Amino acid sequence: MAAEDSFSAREWLRYARQVQLPEVGPAGQRRLRAARVLIVGAGGLGAPAALYLAGAGVGQLTLVDGDAVALSNLHRQVLYGETDIGTGKAAAAARQLQSRNADIEVRAVAAPLGADNVDELVAGADLVLDCTDRMAVRYQLNAGCRRHQKPWLFAAVDRFAGQLALFAPDGACFQCLYPRQPEGLLDCAAAGVLGVVQGLLGLLQAGDALKFLLGLETPSRNHLLLWDALNLELRRLRLRRDPDCPCCTRGGRAELPPEPACAAGSELELAPAAFATALERGDAVLVDVRSAAEFAAFNLGGLNIPLDELDVQDPRLGERPLLLVCQTGVRSRRAAEHLRAAGRAALTLSGGILAWLDERGGD
Ligand SMILES: [Zn+2]
Repeated sequence: MAAEDSFSAREWLRYARQVQLPEVGPAGQRRLRAARVLIVGAGGLGAPAALYLAGAGVGQLTLVDGDAVALSNLHRQVLYGETDIGTGKAAAAARQLQSRNADIEVRAVAAPLGADNVDELVAGADLVLDCTDRMAVRYQLNAGCRRHQKPWLFAAVDRFAGQLALFAPDGACFQCLYPRQPEGLLDCAAAGVLGVVQGLLGLLQAGDALKFLLGLETPSRNHLLLWDALNLELRRLRLRRDPDCPCCTRGGRAELPPEPACAAGSELELAPAAFATALERGDAVLVDVRSAAEFAAFNLGGLNIPLDELDVQDPRLGERPLLLVCQTGVRSRRAAEHLRAAGRAALTLSGGILAWLDERGGD
């Protein structure tokens, strides 16, 4: 037997429990060792998925993430600790994974996936895991994977609802399923999530990734799995190719669907530093549009008028320009749009109170 076919004593011992499974065996373990997996996003999905792929001995993992670790990540992004706050996620994740398994290769790409790097990254992978929470990145991945005939595993969480689908080159693509970018929360994130819900979905994703790499039946292949984490129910729908899908018909070379207005950068929004400057000028009214309970739990001061009670005639709003805040910037943006449509000068804090606090390291 050729040397590359055999295992070191360390590998043989490390993977003993899974090699014992007839579905894996030495041949399956070799397949995992030869596999190159691209993980896009090292957050709430990517962290648990990467841990188990590294543990199982997937030979090469590439982690792509342009963000730094923040305090608000730690409740679900299990690869990181408090000492990682402020450091790049891709490098911190790679370090953690490599410390758990020195027999695999872990690579870190400290940049977001975009048009400039998608082809190079996808071309070098046998399987791609979508662990982002950005619809725009998913369309990039979808098109890149079509161009290079690569399979990719989509996963998304919206509060207690999870979605999982493996798009293989021989089946429907993501754009067949979602022809346009939805305006919903799948993209503008910020709805809140329990860490364990994202973690479980990340593990479902890792499980199907391993099955796929092992050549086993993969339930999410050409299917959409809809998972209800509150009731622990799973539904499975067959995906059908849309004969008019621009991505499929043009082999991933069609123009991507435009981002909905809520996802695009907006002149309504101020970054935390600019928002702080505007506040300090003292000529505007700060309005927190979260619920009274959220306001009571933590606030930056100002008025509390929940979004569903916001009325442009409300005398408390006064005459001065309005600076709007909420938890993550979604509700306050809606409030700003509403107020501006009624002729008021209103700006919103981009990323909300969480971005504000993240910038200050939670202090
Ligand atoms: Zn398609």
